[in-house]
Amino acid sequence: MRIDLHTHSHRSDGTDSPTELLENAVAAGLDVLALTDHDTTAGWPEATAAVPAGLRVVPGAEFSCESETGRGGTCTVHLLGYLFDAEAPAIVAEQGRLRAQRRARVDRMARLMRADGYPVDPDALMAELPPDAPAGRPHLARALIGVGVVATVDEAFRLFLHSRGRYHVAKRDTPVREAIAMVHAAGGVCVLAHPFAVTRGPTVTREVVAALAEAGLDGVEVDHPDHAEPERAELRALAGEHGLLMTGSSDYHGENKVNRLGQETTSPEIFQRVLAMGTGAKVIER
Ligand code: AMP
Ligand code: FE
Ligand code: FE
Ligand code: ZN
Repeated sequence: MRIDLHTHSHRSDGTDSPTELLENAVAAGLDVLALTDHDTTAGWPEATAAVPAGLRVVPGAEFSCESETGRGGTCTVHLLGYLFDAEAPAIVAEQGRLRAQRRARVDRMARLMRADGYPVDPDALMAELPPDAPAGRPHLARALIGVGVVATVDEAFRLFLHSRGRYHVAKRDTPVREAIAMVHAAGGVCVLAHPFAVTRGPTVTREVVAALAEAGLDGVEVDHPDHAEPERAELRALAGEHGLLMTGSSDYHGENKVNRLGQETTSPEIFQRVLAMGTGAKVIER
């Protein structure tokens, strides 16, 4: 069984529609795929309508959260929620608030670049994004490719959009303990995404992961393309000490990232435990 528990569709910052994503999952030889768009569950209905025979889809989302780093500051962390009730009022409200934050922020970043003379058109960019979509830096990156400022999304991040860059604007993320409680209250399972992905910006210490485990975190994403072997080893040790589930996943974003579907996978035993723990939604299958 091949299981990939972290992927994005064009409902957030991927480039495949949910239907294309599921087709590509079958083509990649996957048996189980989790759909985890940033701060939205808008892709769930299409995934339900389009699920091919033989594929199981775990409905989920990647929640934008804020945590203490353990080194005296705060940083963004991503929390994967699986099998939660998408209609839980707290989740509906918080995801809506975050999508509004995301929109205002991408608009600000585009305006800052425009003011510095880059030929990006903030109004055209914002008009192209569906009003309730979780706008993100990859959308701005695509606009920058469109006007010839950069050649790739990766280059846009490297030169302009990274979290320490002069055009970066922060958004107000959900305090991670609140997000864990919110997902649990909605019957879901919580896994900390790419906890030690150091190339993306500041990350949390192992002590913070341990504290989050005490606060109810269910698992950590160990095998992720942004983790090298030392980070994976450290996360395995932490998971062992604190009884956390260990997942592996690709974080596929279609053409917005080089990550391939099924590049990293989760064991069937862990998947069974996620299934047993998640009570707020059912696995999507034909
Ligand atoms: P945002 O959601 O606006 O904070 O943007 C972060 C998103 O951009 C995440 O989904 C990442 O997967 C993606 N991302 C971060 N760094 C890069 C990069 N170097 N190349 C492509 N995508 C990236
Ligand atoms: Fe993303
Ligand atoms: Fe993430
Ligand atoms: Zn992701």
